[in-house]
Amino acid sequence: MSDKIQPVRGTDDLMGLDYRKHDALKKIAEEIGSRYGYEPIATPIFEYTSVFKRTIGETSDIVGKEMYSFLDRGGDDITLRPEGTAGVIRAVISNGLTQNMPLKLMYHGPMLRYERPQLGRRRQFHQIGAECLGIAHPLGDVETIVLGASILEKAGVLDKTVLDINTLGDAASRQAYRQALIDYFTPFQEKLSADSQARLNRNPLRILDSKDEGDRALVQNAPKFEDYLSPESADYFAQVCKGLDDRKIKYNINRRLVRGLDYYVHTAFEFVTNELGAQGTVLAGGRYDGLMAQMGGPEVPGVGWSLGLERVALLMDAPPAAQSPISLIPIGDEAFDFCFNLAMDLRQAGLPIDFLYSGNVAKRMKRANKINARVAVMVGEEELQRKEVTLKNMETGDQSSVPLTELVMVLRG
Ligand code: ATP
Ligand code: MG
Repeated sequence: MSDKIQPVRGTDDLMGLDYRKHDALKKIAEEIGSRYGYEPIATPIFEYTSVFKRTIGETSDIVGKEMYSFLDRGGDDITLRPEGTAGVIRAVISNGLTQNMPLKLMYHGPMLRYERPQLGRRRQFHQIGAECLGIAHPLGDVETIVLGASILEKAGVLDKTVLDINTLGDAASRQAYRQALIDYFTPFQEKLSADSQARLNRNPLRILDSKDEGDRALVQNAPKFEDYLSPESADYFAQVCKGLDDRKIKYNINRRLVRGLDYYVHTAFEFVTNELGAQGTVLAGGRYDGLMAQMGGPEVPGVGWSLGLERVALLMDAPPAAQSPISLIPIGDEAFDFCFNLAMDLRQAGLPIDFLYSGNVAKRMKRANKINARVAVMVGEEELQRKEVTLKNMETGDQSSVPLTELVMVLRG
């Protein structure tokens, strides 16, 4: 490798069009979220490692192999956040907000995972997430899913996705199913992939999620979760499905959908596209009723999702460009100071002004073209005396004289 300074593998510098897409998505999420009663929250990008270990689960990919963890200089075990939910729940407990239910919180920001980088799978990536706390009603799940769908729709990508949903049941159903899976897979233990052998006794549900061909063949005939659901869990799921039907939201029931994190119960869902290969999941979430208690807080139910900004950006059209700038062009040295001050005044008046510190008129015009200026404001000796400027419409080439006193009004027009 050359000794040139390099970005860390799997990280990106966000700028230009991608930056604008991320920005547009965050604004869409904030605007639509506020209609649903969401308040913004920003938690630190690192936490004590235990915050993630205890909640996400030792058998998950994240804790097992993806976390950036280190001892800091004081010897504290720290992890750069791989996801947002654990930090938000930690924040609700730390700030004594557990009595303020229901509480709906939305966040966005970078997440970090040690992954094999590819398109839509980065080591630093960005999520928008929504956490709806204190609502145990199945229509809370529906509301949360509709919120996600509305954001994807406004971003113009909902049509490129399908919604998969499943139920993971309550704790009792899950326990019964877990045992059924262990009983089923144990005789085939030798045939399972190394990863799945490790999951067999710790978290056999994750075998259903395996991408290994051999595992997938065995999964075909594995016991089905629906046969192990308690009547309450089955009823809960039926109500979620009915809620979606009533809202005319299309979905597929995908019995293999188990989600990567250990803390989900009842509903799990994903909006998936077939345009991004193995990185098809753009928004994913579910219900996590036991999480708050598991972190040492009271029993507070929760349901939420997170959206991968990089993946949604890959599906999005370019958002409208920022307001195109106005070039300010002094003709001759005498007009330079005047133009410098005029540039400052016009910016104070809210107008985007591009002003070069050197160069002749031809160079300044070239620059105006390059940055797609909509107007060039030209000021020479003559104009200064008449207290006027010449405006050149960069699209049509038309020129007109405008008195200085009317300049702001005309440019705003
Ligand atoms: P995958 O199965 O693709 O690894 P996951 O189950 O690990 O996804 P979650 O932890 O549910 O993903 O994260 C929610 C969303 O964040 C994903 O649906 C995806 O859009 C996005 N995401 C997750 N990991 C990455 C990554 N490494 N790079 C970019 N986006 C990611
Ligand atoms: Mg993953």
